[in-house]
Amino acid sequence: MGICRYCGKPAGLFRSSHAECRAQHDHVAASIPDFFVKSLNSPLPAASFRDLTMQAAQTGHIRDDEFRALALRGLGSLVEAALANSVITEAEEGRIDEIRSAFGLQISELGETGRKLVKAEILRDLEAGRLPKRVTLSGPSPLNLERGEHIIWIFNNTTFSTIRSRTQWAGRSQGVSIRIMKGVYYRAGASRGEPIQTQYLSQEGQGDLVDCEPECLFLVASEEPQGASQEDHFRASLQRRDSDHARRSFSKTDDLHPR
Ligand SMILES: [Zn+2]
Repeated sequence: MGICRYCGKPAGLFRSSHAECRAQHDHVAASIPDFFVKSLNSPLPAASFRDLTMQAAQTGHIRDDEFRALALRGLGSLVEAALANSVITEAEEGRIDEIRSAFGLQISELGETGRKLVKAEILRDLEAGRLPKRVTLSGPSPLNLERGEHIIWIFNNTTFSTIRSRTQWAGRSQGVSIRIMKGVYYRAGASRGEPIQTQYLSQEGQGDLVDCEPECLFLVASEEPQGASQEDHFRASLQRRDSDHARRSFSKTDDLHPR
């Protein structure tokens, strides 16, 4: 006789669950993330919301570890819903924090969604003219921040490029050789052509782009640039925005959040 893995009662020969228990479980499990999204604009206190969600989980025979995973997914959906209408409001930020702490969850557990949330909060602070203080480095800092400078955001996996120019000669001509006497030639009309200056975007390296306030930007190269002829500013691992070269440089990040 098999035991139902949901309700723990005998489920019948060669059976591991009752069909109705599994249906009830799946229904509740699918509903919990939706509850979180709805809780964003609900006046229900966070503790009451948690109690109701736990009661629903009980009727669906949802175990503690599964409940935590579902709550985390729900929190992620809640954050995504809050981010969907442009910049996050302070009320939304407060509500997210309330719900998060009622379930004992951390924003860092949300991965990419958590990073989007922190970034949206930073943008809101900046828009309101406040200096955000949400980014701290763990581990020894490669940056020489001066007094009063602090990091706003770090873009990982950034490709650094800079505008360089090269000269090519167009219209180069060998001219015409005219034989004057045996073994002596006169070369007429030879021209080395016109110099054509072209500018191009040269990829200089990979690394992290650190945006700080006030007015400093660091490029922290994760690897040595290719070739020995690269200019020394990228050979040094750090660069400040106020150098002339940095102003002609571009950084391509894979960071698209928030919209
Ligand atoms: Zn059952």
